Amino acid sequence: MNNQKRVVIKVGTSSLTYETGKINIRQIELLSQVISDLCHSGCQVALVTSGAISVGMSKLGFNERPKTTREKQAASAVGQSELMSLYGKFFAQYGKDVAQLLLTKNILDNEERRENAINAFNTLFEWGVVPIINENDVISTAEIKFGDNDTLSDVVAELIEADILIILSDIDGLYDKNPAKNPDAVLVHEVYEITDEVMASAGGEGTNRGTGGMVTKLIAAKRAMAAGIEMVIANGKNPKIIYDVLEGTATCTRFKPQKLRGHENV
Ligand code: ADP
Repeated sequence: MNNQKRVVIKVGTSSLTYETGKINIRQIELLSQVISDLCHSGCQVALVTSGAISVGMSKLGFNERPKTTREKQAASAVGQSELMSLYGKFFAQYGKDVAQLLLTKNILDNEERRENAINAFNTLFEWGVVPIINENDVISTAEIKFGDNDTLSDVVAELIEADILIILSDIDGLYDKNPAKNPDAVLVHEVYEITDEVMASAGGEGTNRGTGGMVTKLIAAKRAMAAGIEMVIANGKNPKIIYDVLEGTATCTRFKPQKLRGHENV
């Protein structure tokens, strides 16, 4: 394993919550353990986490996802602090501190904001603190919204010039058609270009608890590949898969850029 890697890991709501909608504490603990261990081995890891609204609903005892924007924003505010308190507790068990970064898309429109974000990330890495990122739901309006954390995770990977972006989902990777509707769908192991045909294989939205499905992941992959960053979709049901992804042995989908960032002739 290359121990100097800068890694962005994105974990989806479907990997962080049970079908019951309640938070999967074991998953959060395992994820914290693996990321802490990677940091000890020399990697610099940033975690993009979804799940704030679901965790907020669970904490407030709601059975149905709120429908209005203001309710979603309020539930997210409740869930975000609960999520961070869990991450803080579990990372601390492995000797790591965490930092919360709530971003909005307008960091990209303004060079100073962009620079501030990059500087904050770099300082946290220097201090050995794990940045944990989510969209700032409470103030996000349509104009400044990333909209989904797949896109946000690509933006983070580009900002910090990551070597690899690992998206953990509830599925082994990209299939040649939506496996929820086609039992004969086959896992695609490597993708070199997001063609219209590849885009068409992403069938609509994902699970009830997740949001973007494969479409937003493919859009993120296209952007990451253009920036020379490898992106991987892997099954987050056992976070230890992150080790296998970095060692090149995981069953997953790898989106391979033609030119790796910083390597003109690769
Ligand atoms: P997450 O919360 O991890 O972001 P989502 O539920 O939003 O997860 O997206 C993953 C889901 O996308 C899968 O469980 C699957 O139902 C759906 N999906 C649609 N088309 C495909 C495809 N071609 N390959 C894999 N999954 C697909």
